[in-house]
Amino acid sequence: MLGAGYAGLTVAQEVARRSRGRIPITLVDRNPVHVLRTELYEVGRLAEAGDRADRFVVPLATVFDRTPVRLQQGNVQEIDLEQRRVRLDTDVLSFRSLAIALGNVAAYYGVPGAADHTHQVYRLSGAKRLAADLVATERASGTLPGERRPRVVVVGGGSTGTEVATEIATTDWRAVAGPDARPPAVFLVTGSLPFLAGFAPPLIDRARRVLARGGVTIVPGVNVARVEPKLVHLEDGTVFAADILVWCAGLEAPPVVQSLPVVHGRAGRIAVDATLEVAGHPGVFAIGDVAQHTDPATGAPVPATAQAALAEARVASQNLVARWFDRPLVPFRYAERGSVVALGVGQAAGSLRRFPIWGSPAALLKRIVQRDYARAVERGERPSLL
Ligand SMILES: Cc1cc2nc3c(=O)[nH]c(=O)nc-3n(C[C@H](O)[C@H](O)[C@H](O)COP(=O)(O)OP(=O)(O)OC[C@H]3O[C@@H](n4cnc5c(N)ncnc54)[C@H](O)[C@@H]3O)c2cc1C
Repeated sequence: MLGAGYAGLTVAQEVARRSRGRIPITLVDRNPVHVLRTELYEVGRLAEAGDRADRFVVPLATVFDRTPVRLQQGNVQEIDLEQRRVRLDTDVLSFRSLAIALGNVAAYYGVPGAADHTHQVYRLSGAKRLAADLVATERASGTLPGERRPRVVVVGGGSTGTEVATEIATTDWRAVAGPDARPPAVFLVTGSLPFLAGFAPPLIDRARRVLARGGVTIVPGVNVARVEPKLVHLEDGTVFAADILVWCAGLEAPPVVQSLPVVHGRAGRIAVDATLEVAGHPGVFAIGDVAQHTDPATGAPVPATAQAALAEARVASQNLVARWFDRPLVPFRYAERGSVVALGVGQAAGSLRRFPIWGSPAALLKRIVQRDYARAVERGERPSLL
């Protein structure tokens, strides 16, 4: 199994359970911990935690204690599907079956300066750096001339950009950075895509109102042309000065996956068949954000979410075991339970089984789902809510 995120960790647990030790499993990740990535927008909480960011990770050794899963730390550098070998920075592994679950990386779409001069929250290291920069900026904000407040520009009007912008705008920075901290002015540059594209119109309306109340200014309709240190140039010539820049504009498959000689979908993701197997490579499955599975019912790709990653992992594990023992494979069908977008501290909006939910109950539901997942993972159990 390559990658110990939501998909890879689940597939390793499920194959171990289903095969009852008859299939030897090695789980590879560059980190010794499972990162609770769905919580990384909470940069205010990360800032409070400082160096003690343990609540955002679960050690893999704890998860797989007393299981037959062997953990191997290493960076996947090459996957050879013909020779059935994976090259790590530390080792070379052969495989009979493989689950590719390496997630994704920030996509910068060739925008000059974007990778070098912006923060991102797609990885824990990036989210921690952003939190530290926010604390330093807020600590110094009391000395800014006149009434000037720190300016934060978040690029990307999808759920991650919205969650990060509202979290930054509503965090009590005085409690985190000291009594002189001034609340930041936050701008959300949504680019040419509509704000919260793909979400239900009532949710989008509500989110707009909460953002306005929370002090987030939406800058719609124009893409970023280039980024310089503390400056964002838009395609229409507007220039935004900012103390902090955050890039939440999109994701793509990691380079090691994009270079594979297989059929690729959007953003370099691996296009898998109905059983989540990679066409032409029996026993090789791609799951989670790295994979693109088109839902036959809607013709649309299954979303790149933790919820979908877990659902895929459960079916992929069943099929991996079936392939191993020469049994028939089953198709993957996706049914979304709901989705909730955080809109700042204690606020959220979304849907649960198609019913709208918002405000503090939605925020509480999101927190309960996140905690249920983290607790279940720590105990090596199946989460019941995700
Ligand atoms: C801020 C934020 C909020 C989100 N909120 C939600 C939400 O509320 N609900 C929801 O359903 N989804 C949410 N998502 C999306 C969700 O986090 C992803 O869909 C999910 O993490 C996908 O799981 P995965 O296993 O495919 O990838 P990941 O969880 O990213 O795991 C990939 C793993 O592969 C490892 N890896 C990658 N490359 C290498 C390499 N070369 N060598 C070794 N190891 C490697 C990584 O270390 C990582 O452990 C959110 C995402 C973000 C960033």
